[in-house]
Amino acid sequence: MMVIDDQKDLDLAETMTEIKQCARPGCTNPVEIIPGHRPRKYCGNGCKQLAYLQREDEKRLQAEAAAQQAQYERDVDALRQRYGLDSLSPKVLDGLLQLRSHYSVGLMYQVGEMLILAVKEAHRSYNEAVNALREEIMLVGEQLNFVAITGPQNQTLRGVQPYCDAIGRASLEELYAMRDSVHLARRARQHLAEVSAQLEAKYSNRHADLS
Ligand SMILES: [Zn+2]
Repeated sequence: MMVIDDQKDLDLAETMTEIKQCARPGCTNPVEIIPGHRPRKYCGNGCKQLAYLQREDEKRLQAEAAAQQAQYERDVDALRQRYGLDSLSPKVLDGLLQLRSHYSVGLMYQVGEMLILAVKEAHRSYNEAVNALREEIMLVGEQLNFVAITGPQNQTLRGVQPYCDAIGRASLEELYAMRDSVHLARRARQHLAEVSAQLEAKYSNRHADLS
């Protein structure tokens, strides 16, 4: 019984060996069978060499992918620590890291700060929002010596007392509008300062040329 079974196994093995294909991924050549020799894995030395290179390549690419993944995890950790846990979704963190790889670290942090600011503003309570807006309007107003701005009901506000009176009565929406107004005034003053700096540079150069 045993002998017959062994013979059957041998026959089966032989049949399988005959249709054996080259072991290199992508090669469909049959492997040459040499009777009395251990069946070879590859159709030839070229494929054997290529299979070795393929394995080395695969190992290298896998190591690179693992290193990239580890770097990514460190980067995400660093961003989370900078901006506080859970404050930014993975999608946002992903986007920030893409800004860094396509543009610069500086831009990534700049956008990150803006996002944090927007998130914080969105999560303020009504009273926090009102107080923060009042503070911001008075602060910017002071820097501009309480320049004329548009207040609630299209009132023109000029000077510290009208500013105080207006922010005391203004609703949240009116405070947002006042903040826009005071920042527009700040911008306008900045542009004027830039123009006079340009004029000064231009005419002081001209003066130098004449002398
Ligand atoms: Zn082959």
